Parts: sequence; C-alpha cells; structure tokens
Amino acid sequence: MFKFMKKQYQTPELPYKYDALEPYIDKETMAIHHDKHHEAYTKKLNSTLENNPKMFDKTPVELLMDLSAIPESIRTAVRNNGGGHVNHNLFWEVMGSEAGGQPQSDLLAAIKKNFGSFEEFQEEFEQAATTQFGSGWAWLTLSGGKLMVEKTANQDTPLSEGRTPLLALDVWEHAYYLKYQNKRPDYIKAFWQVVNWDAVNEKYQQAK
Ligand code: MN
Repeated sequence: MFKFMKKQYQTPELPYKYDALEPYIDKETMAIHHDKHHEAYTKKLNSTLENNPKMFDKTPVELLMDLSAIPESIRTAVRNNGGGHVNHNLFWEVMGSEAGGQPQSDLLAAIKKNFGSFEEFQEEFEQAATTQFGSGWAWLTLSGGKLMVEKTANQDTPLSEGRTPLLALDVWEHAYYLKYQNKRPDYIKAFWQVVNWDAVNEKYQQAK
C-alpha cells in the first residue's frame, strides 16, 4: 500500500536566532512574528488550497505571479495568505546580524544609477514605508532592468504586477509595535542596520 504525503507548503525556519537582530528588532517580536503570524499565513494558504490540490504543483511565488489562474472563489484568500507566506519568506532572508551598511559592486552602481545616490534611495524607501497607510510593505523591486521603490497594502506583492522583489520591509504594526509602538519611522530607520545586502545582491544577480 502507498501512503500519500499530503501536499503542503511549509514555513521556513528563521535563518538566524530570534535575538539575532537585537537591539533593532527585538527577540519577542521576531518569535511572535515568525512562529505565529507567518505560520498562520502558511496554514491558511494550505487550508485554502485543500480542495484544489493541483495548485500545490506551483510554488507559492508562482501562484502570486499569476493570480488570474487561481479559481475565483479562493483568489482573494490566496492573494492574502499566499502573499503573507511569500512576503515573510523574503523578509527574513534579507535581514541578518552583522548587517547594514551598503550593498556591493554592481547593485550599488544600479542603485546609484536609478536613484541618484544610495542616500536618495534610502530616502525614497523610507518615504514609501512611512506613507503606506495602514498595513503593508515597502519594496525595492526590479523590472526590465530598472530598480524601483514601491509600497503595497495588506499582503499584496509586486510579484503579482510582474516585478521581482529584492528587498522587503514589513510595516504591519505586528512587525514593530512591541518595541516601537506608534513610532513607525524609528523602526524604519533601524531596519537599515539589519539589511543583509549580500542576500539582496544575490536576488539581484538572479533576477537581472
Ligand atoms: Mn508580518
């Protein structure tokens, strides 16, 4: 007799310890954010697709890149929970301890070419993150060789618009409220200290 594994997506392990981003992002926030919030998106994505198991043949990224291919009855749930799953996957990957500073070589050159300077890029990114009304994300994306800063509401991802996210910042209150309360701009400033530019550069090299 064969036993069939139930197809499911998994929440990846954090690539570092919960306290690795201290003092900029605190241990308790990381634990709740990863173990509760991210895990909830993954579980809801799995349960959403339970009656459409063919969908598991695609990666979650592929699902979001073509929302029109999702049955209409579950499309919004996939957009929200699939977005939550995929966006957090990226978010954990682009942070790390002993991080911060500036990217290397041709990513830095591309940032300077697209935004004028690294500082102007940071300013534009901070502006997007600060002005995203309510819950959402700020992004550095690549499309047709061009870098862009953008923001999205809820768990929407630039993947659904055909652009490749390279850097993501979660500006939902659950990402910062325990430490920063209403001071979202302080959290955004602190984020630069934990950006793992090597990881971002790797995504840039793959996407370009
Ligand atoms: Mn989040």
